[in-house]
Amino acid sequence: MPLPAPLRRAAFPDAVLGVLTRLAAKGHRSYVVGGAVRDLLLSRPRSPLDFDLATPATPQQVMALFPRVIPTGIDHGTVTILLQDELKVEVTTFRGEGAYTDGRRPGSVTFHTDLEADLARRDFTVNAMAFDPLARELVDPFGGQRDLRGELLRAVGDARLRFAEDGLRPLRAVRFAGQLGFQLHPATRDAIRGALPVVRQVSRERMAEELGRLAVSRDVARAFGLLGSTGLLEVLAPPLAALPPARLRHLGVMAASIDGEPPDLPLRLAALFHAAPVAGIEALLSSLRFPRRLSAEVAALAARHSCLREGEPEDPVSPPVVRRWLAGVGPGRAQPLLSLREAEVAALPAARRPKAALAARRLRERCEAALASGAPLDTGALKLDGRGLMALLACPPGPQVGEGLRHLLDLVLDQPELNTPEELAAAARAWWAARPA
Ligand code: ATP
Ligand code: MG
Repeated sequence: MPLPAPLRRAAFPDAVLGVLTRLAAKGHRSYVVGGAVRDLLLSRPRSPLDFDLATPATPQQVMALFPRVIPTGIDHGTVTILLQDELKVEVTTFRGEGAYTDGRRPGSVTFHTDLEADLARRDFTVNAMAFDPLARELVDPFGGQRDLRGELLRAVGDARLRFAEDGLRPLRAVRFAGQLGFQLHPATRDAIRGALPVVRQVSRERMAEELGRLAVSRDVARAFGLLGSTGLLEVLAPPLAALPPARLRHLGVMAASIDGEPPDLPLRLAALFHAAPVAGIEALLSSLRFPRRLSAEVAALAARHSCLREGEPEDPVSPPVVRRWLAGVGPGRAQPLLSLREAEVAALPAARRPKAALAARRLRERCEAALASGAPLDTGALKLDGRGLMALLACPPGPQVGEGLRHLLDLVLDQPELNTPEELAAAARAWWAARPA
């Protein structure tokens, strides 16, 4: 079979070729495997640092051939070869797997000299190809190229058995569907529901990692839809799984409409999760072991994006209301929140879109004007600081200092022209005098 054009043209990193050449010279014909072969065939860009190699040499044989090798996952046959200029190449010995006992890792691994056995343990046909760039030979025993052409993710072998072995695989299937814009092969898709108990055994950290990668994928709407239709959402985010399908579709479409290179993770998560009760979002993300700061940021974004809806009393929104909102969200978050709101408008039914789009555009203009005007939006921008306030009122440090500054900010949010040392001093004295003793 002639070699597909993308592989014929492919340039392999020197580090990869060097390692393959050295292994081959010792009689260990080795291969580039998995995602790198898939991405090359799809002409998708891939970092030259992310090429996985598979070899029939044992980890000990690999370690003996290269001066600097870290035994990164030696129990599973993986070592990392360190090369010049901080370059690293990961090499894994061909292996088969014993029985899975914990729904995540095989109880034992056996090393092989048989490439096909190694490819057979891989998750999807498009990930189960190997290429030898020296001999220019592609090994594709499970129809990986056929499925790349058909844009299909299909489990290698019987999907039900493969998912029962490892509960991470259904999550990977859906994440790859989002990243590649592929469909799930029907048998692969239908096997997910029966595997949900095994998916529940996956660590929350791994779930979060897959969810995060899915959230920033190019076809997040498709992937999120699949989470809903396969039942995976019941495992990842029960409060969302209860939403009607149309609402779920809307969330996915919203998230997809927020692009950016790379897409903004907090904003994408806020789009996907903002239909859950706000108090629930932070708890949900924290339970998935997302970093606390990220969970809080997503919850804040979700809570605030809808604060300035059209039809509220202040429509068109008055400048003080805009400044108050900016102060509340923090000026740095204004842009992403406006984008989220615009995404929501874009996802509205066509009949309601023009009016909402006009309101959103007006809001953006007003926010941008408020930001550009230099009007003070946080206590740090006041022309009187905490030290000045204490000197002026002859008061000791304590909670009253923060209270006083917030009071002053409150004033200047309404009337930015009051932000002068004299005006603020007068206002501070009045506030202090009126304060209950
Ligand atoms: P990415 O571009 O996201 O890194 P990848 O295909 O390189 O995608 P990895 O998670 O880096 O994915 O794994 C490398 C290869 O190992 C995969 O292509 C696949 O062949 C195999 N693999 C990874 N995880 C599993 C798994 N849970 N079950 C079976 N095979 C797996
Ligand atoms: Mg990889």
